[in-house]
Amino acid sequence: MHQSAHKKGNTLAGGEHAAGTPIADVDVCIVGAGPVGATLACRLGRAGLKVAVIDRLALAPMEHPDLDGRAYAIAAGPKEFLEAAGVWDYLPEPACPIEDILVTDGRPGEPASSLFLEFTREDATQPFGWMIGARSLRVALNACLENVPGVRVLAPADATVTRKAEGAHIRLADGRSFGARLIVAADGRKSRLRSDAGIGLTRLPYGQTAIVCTIAHEFPHDNSALEHFLPAGPFAQLPLAGTAEHPYLSAIVWSDKDGLAQRFAALPDDVFARQLEKRMGTNRLGHVTPVGRRWTYPLSAQYAQRYTAERMVLVGDAAHGIHPIAGQGLNLGYRDIIHLAALLIEAHEQGQDMGSPALLARYQAACRPANMLMLAATDALDRLFSNDNPVLRLARDIGIAGVHRIPALRRAFVRHAMGV
Ligand SMILES: Cc1cc2nc3c(=O)[nH]c(=O)nc-3n(C[C@H](O)[C@H](O)[C@H](O)COP(=O)(O)OP(=O)(O)OC[C@H]3O[C@@H](n4cnc5c(N)ncnc54)[C@H](O)[C@@H]3O)c2cc1C
Repeated sequence: MHQSAHKKGNTLAGGEHAAGTPIADVDVCIVGAGPVGATLACRLGRAGLKVAVIDRLALAPMEHPDLDGRAYAIAAGPKEFLEAAGVWDYLPEPACPIEDILVTDGRPGEPASSLFLEFTREDATQPFGWMIGARSLRVALNACLENVPGVRVLAPADATVTRKAEGAHIRLADGRSFGARLIVAADGRKSRLRSDAGIGLTRLPYGQTAIVCTIAHEFPHDNSALEHFLPAGPFAQLPLAGTAEHPYLSAIVWSDKDGLAQRFAALPDDVFARQLEKRMGTNRLGHVTPVGRRWTYPLSAQYAQRYTAERMVLVGDAAHGIHPIAGQGLNLGYRDIIHLAALLIEAHEQGQDMGSPALLARYQAACRPANMLMLAATDALDRLFSNDNPVLRLARDIGIAGVHRIPALRRAFVRHAMGV
């Protein structure tokens, strides 16, 4: 395992100022060094492309444990991409494989419905996903960006982008400027590049907020995840690798009605722990203890009307945001850049224009329909499960149990969620 190193290499922590060295033109300029933008930069740099990656924030402070409580369930396809990008090797902590997933339905304080769906190790030839902490991923990305050849990191930096048919031009607030064949907008849900390009956005609010935290528990999780559907929103427990202090650890994503979630998140540890236990639907983890701080994230889905503009593509949350019900948000972003990287590396090898309209059209056709399908599926799941209507309860329980009884259907679900 490697550790992150700062203030050297590709200028990560120190930022670049007016006195900084001039910036040579690049093939691809990525705006936004979140997990999607940074991973793409590493992958393209390793393939020999010249890349600039810009973030308005300095990247090193993003490693602070208090910044982000999320833990990502990384599917098989995205994991392979992280390996190809050289990022996986830099993870400072082991990823925890998810080998079983139990899907149940119920009400707080009641045992889960007797009809349930279970995906087990027999349904798949490899784990369903790997859990990594957002902070761990950040440490690995920063270390990788620092060392990959051909990548220039400009952070913190404020960029103004001008796009024309013949190429794009990037001007930094410190006065330096450079050209690029393609701009990749990886600047998250509130993407400025998306709105500057006049790309419309449709937003679907859920009136739900996710409480995200880590818990220690009495019994081992055995690499098993739980998705428990409750009337106010889904409750997920995802296995994490243990530590010397807490051998049995899990991540919690508890979605509840907006106002209630804020109140639950503010409860004292012992009361909060009892509320968590009431939402597990089973006692398989025993007593739970919250570890570290809690975060709240308001939930909404959103999608961009198109993924391309002249000399520009949208990737990750800039293009789409979905309900975390299936833990697929970042995986969708990774699927975008898996397609985009393949197209760009092919164009690079064949000496073709990396921002041509034909390449952009191929990118959108490869990603947008599948992403819209995932958005619709997670939206429908949330609407179907987040209510207490008795007829819907019976219908969904029968549906859950039906899928459970048909191994081929179970395996199809699994293949889709794993991105293979
Ligand atoms: C509660 C919750 C739980 C989740 N759990 C999971 C999960 O288990 N699995 C999963 O796959 N996904 C999960 N997600 C979704 C996941 O967090 C996002 O999909 C992911 O962070 C998107 O990455 P990104 O790189 O596209 O955008 P971001 O992470 O938002 O990064 C955007 C970057 O752009 C920078 N930026 C913004 N504006 C500018 C600008 N104008 N100029 C320069 N830089 C700029 C920002 O500083 C930031 O670094 C979850 C989300 C939530 C809310």
